[in-house]
Amino acid sequence: MIYRTVGIIGAGPSGIAAGVQLTRYGIATVVFEEKAVGGLLRNANWVENYPGFPNGIKGIELAYRMEEQLRGIGVELLAQGVRRVEWDGKLFRVFTSELEVMCEVLIVACGTRPRQLSERQVHPSARRRIFYEVVDLNQPRHTKIAIIGAGDAAFDYALNLAAENQVEIFNRTDIRRCLPLLWERAKNNPAIRYMPQTEVLWVEAEGEKGLRLTLSRRGDIETRSVDALLVAIGREPRLDCLDPALCRQLEALETSGRCYRIGDVKNGIFRQTAIAVGDGLRAAMQIYHTVMEGCL
Ligand SMILES: Cc1cc2nc3c(=O)[nH]c(=O)nc-3n(C[C@H](O)[C@H](O)[C@H](O)COP(=O)(O)OP(=O)(O)OC[C@H]3O[C@@H](n4cnc5c(N)ncnc54)[C@H](O)[C@@H]3O)c2cc1C
Repeated sequence: MIYRTVGIIGAGPSGIAAGVQLTRYGIATVVFEEKAVGGLLRNANWVENYPGFPNGIKGIELAYRMEEQLRGIGVELLAQGVRRVEWDGKLFRVFTSELEVMCEVLIVACGTRPRQLSERQVHPSARRRIFYEVVDLNQPRHTKIAIIGAGDAAFDYALNLAAENQVEIFNRTDIRRCLPLLWERAKNNPAIRYMPQTEVLWVEAEGEKGLRLTLSRRGDIETRSVDALLVAIGREPRLDCLDPALCRQLEALETSGRCYRIGDVKNGIFRQTAIAVGDGLRAAMQIYHTVMEGCL
């Protein structure tokens, strides 16, 4: 078992910002990351609203730069998923599959999880062929990809993939919820076909790697063979590693400065990198002042 003053769950932009600032303060901090440093940002095709990059920057590139900063400043990073966190009344006990870490303050920077297609839409054989993040597709080339969704993420994914693939976006209604500029770019991209009023009814495996989709399009039933399916139908906060008893005390622990939720995990529709980074900085500064005032 090891002890650190602060434990941060998640090395997305919010966790990175908090980790960097706490380390600058000299506060013993550990960051846990179960997947890849940079979090969801690694999926962003072209980030144009993060200050400092007047011409925009690829999400993955910005994530690499954040990782470089995190490692460069010497933040302790554990490439392990947090399975469970308990509050024993004095300290947080953070469990991974390999170790237990005790900490005084917990920062929950876990981001969000994707909403999944329902079980009645997917044959079990197809489940592992469905993706929820574009990075998990591993830069496909010359393939036919279907995307379900109608928000920023669906259109951003389409623009990302259309450089080297053919993409179809299926939206079950007529309403798009993406930035107008993403829509303009997608509309003018010959490799992207947008299909409103098209609902994916059923997904099954086809051949070695492909999928066969059954669609309802303006009332008609059609089928499609695709190489991959990417689903972007919304995201929900991730708090699954927190023990239920801890969840019940979360607000009280936040009020007393022992626990902080930062970034997408708490930002509702305001899920943006700069906001997440600001949350991380604010939490780190609050923790520093609490430590200085001897309140821990
Ligand atoms: C397609 C797309 C395009 C986007 N474009 C933009 C854009 O142009 N501009 C912009 O500002 N924002 C954009 N965003 C949003 C931006 O990516 C997020 O707002 C930002 O990444 C949120 O940071 P975060 O640290 O709160 O959460 P996340 O980035 O989600 O990071 C959370 C991290 O926690 C880890 N984690 C979760 N649970 C555990 C656990 N139990 N143990 C260990 N680790 C755990 C996850 O693996 C993840 O790495 C985009 C998002 C997407 C999907």
